[in-house]
Amino acid sequence: MGDSTPAPLDDVVLKLKREFGTAVLQPGESAYEEENGRFWNRDNSDVRPKAILTPSSSQDAASIIHTLSSTKTPFAIRSGGYMPTPSYNTSPSILLSLRRFSSIELLQGDRVRFGTGCQWGSVYDVLEPHGLVVPGGRSRHVGVGGFLLHGGISHFYGATGWACESILAFEVVLPDGRVVEASQGREEELFWALKGGGKNFGCVTAFTMQCQRLGKIWGGSRVALGTPGVAVQVFDATHGLLGEEVDEKAHVEVISFYNPYACPGGDPMFSLSLAYAGEVEKPEGLKAFLEVEAVADTTRPTSQRELADDEKNFIGFDKRALFRGFSYRGSPELTLDVYNAFYAAAKASGMFELEPSALAAVLWSPINRKMAARTSAVSLGEDAEPYLLFCMNFRWENPEVSTKMHSIANRIADELKQKLRDADAFIPYTYGNIAGVDDVTYAGLPEKTRQRLREVAAKYDPQGVFQKQVAGFKLE
Ligand SMILES: Cc1cc2nc3c(=O)[nH]c(=O)nc-3n(C[C@H](O)[C@H](O)[C@H](O)COP(=O)(O)OP(=O)(O)OC[C@H]3O[C@@H](n4cnc5c(N)ncnc54)[C@H](O)[C@@H]3O)c2cc1C
Repeated sequence: MGDSTPAPLDDVVLKLKREFGTAVLQPGESAYEEENGRFWNRDNSDVRPKAILTPSSSQDAASIIHTLSSTKTPFAIRSGGYMPTPSYNTSPSILLSLRRFSSIELLQGDRVRFGTGCQWGSVYDVLEPHGLVVPGGRSRHVGVGGFLLHGGISHFYGATGWACESILAFEVVLPDGRVVEASQGREEELFWALKGGGKNFGCVTAFTMQCQRLGKIWGGSRVALGTPGVAVQVFDATHGLLGEEVDEKAHVEVISFYNPYACPGGDPMFSLSLAYAGEVEKPEGLKAFLEVEAVADTTRPTSQRELADDEKNFIGFDKRALFRGFSYRGSPELTLDVYNAFYAAAKASGMFELEPSALAAVLWSPINRKMAARTSAVSLGEDAEPYLLFCMNFRWENPEVSTKMHSIANRIADELKQKLRDADAFIPYTYGNIAGVDDVTYAGLPEKTRQRLREVAAKYDPQGVFQKQVAGFKLE
C-alpha cells in the first residue's frame, strides 16, 4: 500500500465498531438518521457517511482520531452543524459528531468551561442566573465549536472583539491521538492558532472562556421596508459604525432579505438586529438606526439568552442554504450600489422561478478597529482599518435546484466582487464562518499570520492529517 493510500473503509469501520460499539452509527439505524439530519444546510444531510462516530470522552475521541490518522481515512468533524458550506462539516467517508461533548461547568473567577457539542443557548441558560454573559453566537442554536474556531461575532463584539479572544483554554485532540490543553503558558502557539485557525490543527473537545458580569442588556430587531430612502439611511448609519468615535457597547447586524411573494412592493426588507451592552433604552450610539421607520420593533430591555432566542426564523434543519462572503471598505454610496446590484441580479437570475419560496438575503457586519487590527489568526494585521463583512445567503427547499442555486450565487458573487475591485474597495479575505467554498479565507490573511499558522500546523500535525484528510477551510 502506498504511503497516502487510505485503508479500505469497510475495514476501518469494522475496527471502530469493535472498539466503540454503539458509538459507531451506520446507515439505516434510527440514531444514524437522527444524527445525519442535524445540518442547517439540508444538502449536507443528503451526504451519507459510511459511519457516524459519536464519542463522549476526549480519550475515545483521541483513540478514534489516531485510528483515522493512521489509516489515512478521510473524515469530517461536526459540532453544531450550522456551517452551510457543502461537505465542510460532513463526508461520505466518516463523520465525527461531537454532540455528546455537552457538559457545561461554571468555574471560579467568572469562567465557564463547556464541551464543543453545546449550542450557545444552553451556555446562556447556565450563565444568566449568575448575571454573567460571554461573547457567543447571536442565535441560540448555533454550535459553539465552529463559531469559536473561526472567530465568532457576538452581540458584544464592539467591546470584546472576536469571541475567540475571550477563550482562556482549549482541550484539543492532536492528530497523533494526544490530548493537550492549549492556554496562555501551555502550548502557546497552538493556543494562538486555534483562535480563528479553524479545524487545521486538531479536534477541540472543550473550551474555557472568560465571562463578563452584565445583567440586563437592551436589544431586538427593527424591521423596515427597504425603500430607496430607507436603504440610504441604513447604509449611512452602518458606515457610521466604522469610524473611530463609536460606542463600543453598541451592536448592529444589518440583514436585508427578499422574496417576491413576501415583499410584494418589490423592495427587499431590512431587519436591523440591534443590541447594547447595558440597560440603556434607545442608546445614543444606535440613534441613526432608531430613526429608521420600522414596521415592527422588538427592541426592549432583555438578556443575552432572550436575545439569542429571538432568532427563531433561521434556525431549523428543514431548508437548504448557502453563504457567500467577502469584505470591503468604502462609502455608503458604494454599499447602496452593491445592495441594488445584488437584488437586481437575484431577481433577474431565475432563482424565484426555480423555487417561488426561495429567499435571497444579505447580512452586513461592521468590523471595527478592535477586530480588524488584532494579531489573532482572524485579523488583518496590526494596522488594519475597520471594514464591512458582506454575507450573501440563499435558502430554498428543493434538492433538485441546489446546483443551480450555487451557480447563481457564484455568478452574483463574482459580479459584486468585480464591482468592489473596480472601486478599489475589495479586501481579498472572507471570515470563515460566512464563507462559501470559492471564497478566500486563510489565503487572504497577512503573510506573517499565514506563515505562523503553517508553522503551528507543521509542529502539531507533521503528517498534514488535518490538511489532507479533514473537511473544512484549509490553510492553503
Ligand atoms: C442561523 C445562523 C446564525 C449564525 N449566527 C452567527 C453569529 O451570530 N456570529 C457568527 O460569527 N457566526 C454566526 N453564524 C455562522 C456560524 O458561526 C458558523 O456556521 C459556525 O461554524 C457554526 O458552528 P457549528 O459548531 O454549528 O459548526 P459546524 O457546522 O459543526 O462546523 C463548522 C466547521 O468547523 C469545524 N469544527 C467544528 N467543531 C470543531 C471542533 N471541535 N474541532 C475542530 N473542528 C471543528 C467543522 O469541521 C467545520 O469545518 C451563524 C450561522 C447560522 C446558520
